[in-house]
Amino acid sequence: MFQNKEIKETLLQQETPLYYYDLPLLERTLDAAKQAADKRNFHIHYALKANFNDRILNIIQSKGYGADCVSGGEVEKSIAVGFPAGQITFAGVGKSDKEIILALKHRIFAFNVESIQELEVINELAGQIGEKANVSLRINPNVDAHTHHYITTGLDENKFGVPNSELEKAAAIIKNCPNINLIGLHFHIGSQITDLNVFKSLCVKVNEWKNFFEERGTYIKVINVGGGLGVDYKNPDENPIPDFEAYFDIFDKFLERTGQHEVHFELGRALVAQCGSLVSKVLYTKSGLKKNFLILDAGMTELMRPALYQAYHKIEKIGEVSPTDKVLNYDVVGPICESSDCFGKEVELPVSKRGDLIAIRTAGAYGEVMASNYNLRNEIRNYFKEN
Ligand SMILES: *Cc1c(COP(=O)(O)O)cnc(C)c1O
Repeated sequence: MFQNKEIKETLLQQETPLYYYDLPLLERTLDAAKQAADKRNFHIHYALKANFNDRILNIIQSKGYGADCVSGGEVEKSIAVGFPAGQITFAGVGKSDKEIILALKHRIFAFNVESIQELEVINELAGQIGEKANVSLRINPNVDAHTHHYITTGLDENKFGVPNSELEKAAAIIKNCPNINLIGLHFHIGSQITDLNVFKSLCVKVNEWKNFFEERGTYIKVINVGGGLGVDYKNPDENPIPDFEAYFDIFDKFLERTGQHEVHFELGRALVAQCGSLVSKVLYTKSGLKKNFLILDAGMTELMRPALYQAYHKIEKIGEVSPTDKVLNYDVVGPICESSDCFGKEVELPVSKRGDLIAIRTAGAYGEVMASNYNLRNEIRNYFKEN
C-alpha cells in the first residue's frame, strides 16, 4: 500500500505523526460485511470504541449500520453523527446513573445489562423519568476466545455479564420490573478472534441459553452475539478485508432461530482496523553494541496496543523499495519516556535515515481512540485517502 514514490511524496508534505485512513478500503469493507449480513437477515451495530473519528463514523452511519456503545459519551456521539437511536445498543459493567438516564431519554434499542443490581437501577431510573427500558441480559458463556488474555471477556473469571447462577433470578426479577422490557440475550466473548471454531462453540452456548429461557416461558426476540472477529495483522495487503461470508455463515448454520428471532452483531475491529495506518517520521537512528534503533516521532501516545498488550503491527518503510536495498534489523521505538514504548523488536527494514517515513499498519482499530497526551504530546493528525 505504501511502497511507491507518489505516496511518499504526498505524505512528506504532511506534518507527522498522523493517522492515515484509506476511505475506499473502509467502504469496501463495510459493503462486504453489510452484504454478507443482509443476505442472512443479520443486523450489525458498529462498536464505536474501535474508532470514533468523525469522518469514519459518518461513512459507517451512511451505510445503514447501527451503533454499539460502552459509555454515555459514545451514545451521545452516535446520536450526533446520525445513527438512529433505535439501532443503538449500550453495554458495559459500570453504567453510571447519568449515562443510563441519557440513554433512556434517547430511547435506544437496548441496554445490555451486566448485573442484577444494574437491572434494578435501570428500572428505578426509568420509572422516575417515565420511560421504559429495553434490555438484553449479558451472559458470560464460558467460551475461551483463544486470544490475548487482556481481550478475553467470555470466561467465568471475567468481570463481564450476569453470573450464570443468577440468570434465572434475573429473569424473575424482570417480570416484576414494570419499567423494563426483556428483549433478548447478549454475548461478547473477546476480540481479535481468528479461529472461527470459537464462534461455533459460542453458537452452541447461545442455543442452550435461549432454550433455557424459552422453556421457562421467557421469550427471547433478540440474540446479540457481540463482536470479536479478528483481522490479519501479519498480512494487511494480502488480506485487507476479513472473510465476512465465512464468519456469518457459522452463525447462519449453527444458531437455532425461527423467523421471529433477530440476530445482532457488534463488530468493531473487523470493520476499521485495516483501513488505518500510523504514519511517522524517523527522527534519529542509533546503533548500540547489539542493537540498531529507529527512533520515530510517534510513540505509545499515538498507538498504545504494542505497549498495552504486546500487539504485533506490521512496520514498513514508505516509498519505493528495490530487492537490492540493504536491510537491517531495527528496534523501532517512540520518543516517550517508557521502555515499553516500542513498536517492534528486530524488525527487518531497508536501511533507513533521519526524515524517512514509516507506516505502522492495521492501526485503524483501537489506535487513534487510545491516543493520550501523556508527556503533553500534541493531538494526533489525520490524512484521508479519498479515492
Ligand atoms: C469491544 C466490544 C465489541 C467490539 O469488539 P471487536 O473485537 O472490536 O469486534 C463488541 N461488543 C462489546 C460489548 C464490546 O465491549
